[in-house]
Amino acid sequence: MLFANCWEEAEIQSRLKTVDDTALSQDLVYRVYTSQLIGKVPDLVMHGGGNTSCKSVAVDLNGDEIAVLCVKGSGWDLGTIEVPGLPAVRLDPLLKLRDLDALSDEDMVNVQRANLLDSASPNPSVETLLHAFLPHKFVDHTHSTPFLTLANLPEAEDAMRELFAGRLAYVPYVMPGFALAKTGARIQAENPTAEGLLLGKHGHFTWGDDAKSSYDRVIEHTNLVEAWLADRRSTPAVPVRRPTSEEKVEFLQNLRGALSHAHDEVTRMPVLDVVDSDSVLSFLERSDVPQLAKAGVATPDHVIRTKAHPMLLPAAAVGGGREMLAESVRAYIEEYTRYFDDFSGNAAIQKVMLSPLPKLIWAEGVGLIGAGASLKEAQIITDLAEQNSRVMADGAANGGFAPASASDLFDMEYWSLEQAKLGKSKPPAMQGRVVVVTGGAGAIGLATAKVFKAAGGEVLLVDKDQAALDAALAAIGNGVKGLAIDLTEDRAAGAVMQSATGYFGGIDILVSNAGYALEGAIAELDETALHESFELNFFAHFRLARAAHAVMGRQGHGGQMLFNVSKQAVNPGRNFGAYGLPKATLMFLVRQLALEFGADGIRVNGVNADRIRSGLLNDEMISNRSKARGLSEADYLAGNLIGREVEACHVAEGFLALAQSYRTSGHIMTIDGGNVEAALR
Ligand code: ZN
Repeated sequence: MLFANCWEEAEIQSRLKTVDDTALSQDLVYRVYTSQLIGKVPDLVMHGGGNTSCKSVAVDLNGDEIAVLCVKGSGWDLGTIEVPGLPAVRLDPLLKLRDLDALSDEDMVNVQRANLLDSASPNPSVETLLHAFLPHKFVDHTHSTPFLTLANLPEAEDAMRELFAGRLAYVPYVMPGFALAKTGARIQAENPTAEGLLLGKHGHFTWGDDAKSSYDRVIEHTNLVEAWLADRRSTPAVPVRRPTSEEKVEFLQNLRGALSHAHDEVTRMPVLDVVDSDSVLSFLERSDVPQLAKAGVATPDHVIRTKAHPMLLPAAAVGGGREMLAESVRAYIEEYTRYFDDFSGNAAIQKVMLSPLPKLIWAEGVGLIGAGASLKEAQIITDLAEQNSRVMADGAANGGFAPASASDLFDMEYWSLEQAKLGKSKPPAMQGRVVVVTGGAGAIGLATAKVFKAAGGEVLLVDKDQAALDAALAAIGNGVKGLAIDLTEDRAAGAVMQSATGYFGGIDILVSNAGYALEGAIAELDETALHESFELNFFAHFRLARAAHAVMGRQGHGGQMLFNVSKQAVNPGRNFGAYGLPKATLMFLVRQLALEFGADGIRVNGVNADRIRSGLLNDEMISNRSKARGLSEADYLAGNLIGREVEACHVAEGFLALAQSYRTSGHIMTIDGGNVEAALR
């Protein structure tokens, strides 16, 4: 598909009116605008894989004019970039570096930082020096899908000449940084009429005296390549294999377990994201897939996200069980270790081996699977993997896919600046943990989801009420998923596990929280109503626990189950028998499960909460009960030993504390502000 030129003169004119009329402010309006236009199209730049700059003039505190380069800073995405994402660096000190023969990456970063106008700015892009050395005012760099295909053809330079004649100049592959900046700038100087560069095995550069002409060239050049590729593209074959959804779910759970080689409770399994479009599945059925899996990545910085090679699983592996998958993982680790040993020996500075586990899996029949520390990381992996699959297929139709060598990819993967970041940050406590919270739209469920999310977990909210669920998801945002289902339905427990697996690859922590309170004196109680209370307040918990146990068994890494019991289980309230009976049974279930699941590494605990303002204790009930006791509502809610209201967030923190208490099982934590009559022991 061709790329649209989205420039709108009216838009830029209205943006210009919002800033002062200094050259720098005006230039940055243009620079931000076309950076965003480029960044909003994933097939032009994906996940930080491109950068832009402009040269302008700033005025310092003394009123002196300084030539500056405003260039994309790390941590910013072009699609959403704003002025702070384009830090200004003094241009002259950067230009002086061109006289050097060599410059280490550390020195390069240091000079760039030391010349920032604002010391609080993010680090300027690693490609800053090439932007600086190119003489043009506006420079755009993309890793667009068509250009990645062109850049990785075995005869990329010939194809470029056929398409562009002298309009582009070719830069053979050089590691990004100082060496690429010098080479790229020299080749531009030798081809002064060129409109841009094709960086072999890397991407595309273009430029202009103004933002619009540089942007126009991005679109025009990319479309020229895309049209050429489209002419030669055959319709993709229809995939023949697709496992049933049950097979796929079991496979993912087995795979998730196989992808973690340590079996202690602190080690996290990865979060899995799957892309399974028809084009991906038919790509995985190509006869040359084994060769493509060994080839490499479309542009070197992908290696940091995906590693150089995926783990390839043939269709037979999908039904093969965890041990068979673990065998493939072991083989992958062995090969990766060999690659590390082969290349780290030549490195000037001692390298630290990264996790040898695969980050990307090509599973025939299932799709491209990203294995990340979080869903976000897994999705970045699958986005890049999907783009790489198209680059490979298009390349194969045009002479081949010939990316940077294993040695070059090693240099990028083990780049000293990346190595320096290792071990500097501790992952959040719940990172990588998949947490299912039932009754997720209620006060306690929502509060629980929030604390687990804030601790880095991946959360699936389950609730019967679609509208309430939508509101809860909107309140949390941030990648939390939802499933609307009535937990008393027979299929519910299976559907919950399937949903968690579909979104994240499996489940680590079940917070079985859904419940409802039924009032009525035992003498008059309708038996059907009691049965209904048992359905949600006991059987739904029971079925979820068994379904989660099956998933955790396939993963083989233990897990946790947390139940919302209730004060009613130990300290009955008048007219609450129909609620207390199933809750007392649930408390027994916690202990029975702890006893029977402990050997599988599954910890089972519960929370006993009381007087929490929620759907079960709504405003009307609070009003009635406080009146019945002759108390103000505040005094009623604070009617405990510490004299303070207990809120949903306190219950949520209790669940989180139990989740992190790695040697606790069969425990019921009371969260009621202190009430000796309801104390357990
Ligand atoms: Zn690049």
